Amino acid sequence: MSALARRTGSVNLGQGFPDWNPPEPLLAAASHAISHGDHQYPPVRGLPELRRAVSADLALRCGIEVDPETEVVITAGATEGLTAAILALVGEGDEVVFPEPFYDAYPAAVTMAGGVPVTVPLTGPDYVLDEAGLAAAVSPRTRMILLNTPNNPTGRVLTRPELDAVARTAAAHDLIVLVDEVYEHLVYDGREHLSPAAVPGMRSRTLTVGSAAKTFSATGWKVGWVSGPAELVGAVARVKQYLSFATQGPLQTAVVAGLNLPASYFADLRGAMERRRDLLCAGLTAAGFAVTRPEGGYFVLADASGLGVTDAADYADWLARHGKVVAIPGGTYFTDARSGAHLLRFAFCKTDEALRTAVARLSGLR
Ligand code: PMP
Ligand code: GLN
Repeated sequence: MSALARRTGSVNLGQGFPDWNPPEPLLAAASHAISHGDHQYPPVRGLPELRRAVSADLALRCGIEVDPETEVVITAGATEGLTAAILALVGEGDEVVFPEPFYDAYPAAVTMAGGVPVTVPLTGPDYVLDEAGLAAAVSPRTRMILLNTPNNPTGRVLTRPELDAVARTAAAHDLIVLVDEVYEHLVYDGREHLSPAAVPGMRSRTLTVGSAAKTFSATGWKVGWVSGPAELVGAVARVKQYLSFATQGPLQTAVVAGLNLPASYFADLRGAMERRRDLLCAGLTAAGFAVTRPEGGYFVLADASGLGVTDAADYADWLARHGKVVAIPGGTYFTDARSGAHLLRFAFCKTDEALRTAVARLSGLR
């Protein structure tokens, strides 16, 4: 879709990357590390200073204590962290339960591990995860529950009752819980991100995946991390050793500078993204889409039924060519693409100017 955006001169509200640079202190730290730093293999588990920074951040924000020596591994983005965790812990025929719609890497990673994706269908506009739905998806072959909060593509931020339901289900069936928290800092309207690992009883069974990509507007850096109990993290590190061996050293150093930024950086990012969300939601509504205001993350999953859309893939192609706006067809996030055939995902991690141009073009289509 990004190639289509370039070809058609469209505003790219498809792929989730910001169209601005990482903060200056990270750029300065990266330049310094490249000019004066170490360019050879970092340790498999990551630079000790970055593991310490991740551990301190988890303690401060989530009240989760992890030992930087044994309970954190730095990965080549959250993508490698998630895939390494799944390859490490999911065996042939093991089932992995996750809500649908889902981030597209999940069924791919589970399938590569020889596992079986089992989804819990959530329906819009609320996309609530309920205990009965979760319980219905669990079988004697279930090994893992996989969650993403704040969510791509729905914009949901899981609530305490939803996490309590996950905790009860995981305890009842002795399951591992893998949590993708790459949008942890992007929560809106005064909400708080709740880390499932901090729910009583969950720490010993939960692996948490984070990333510098969204928090520091550095999606191309591919620096992420996985934290959790030493035994599980050790298994992830053993797989990571044979996927990439190590993660790019100078950029790990730069991410330490990011995690040490003052609280105001994170608050400002959140505020700016909340404003962009409002701008896009208002524009999409005026253009005839039905939107649920995202509670967190980068994306709006918009319902185009009111515009007569029944094939989002076709419509996304038409929209790029005739409306000069790129969005991702909703089918991408479902097992059966037909379930998302009336949906389009729009990213709002774009400059105000890009969003305003997109909104003007969309309103001109009616
Ligand atoms: N998880 C989710 C939910 C995402 O949206 C993304 C998008 N980049 C990733 C993981 C991957 O993160 P990274 O770039 O750190 O691999
Ligand atoms: N996570 C980003 C998105 O959902 C992009 C990642 C990718 O293109 N694979 O748009």
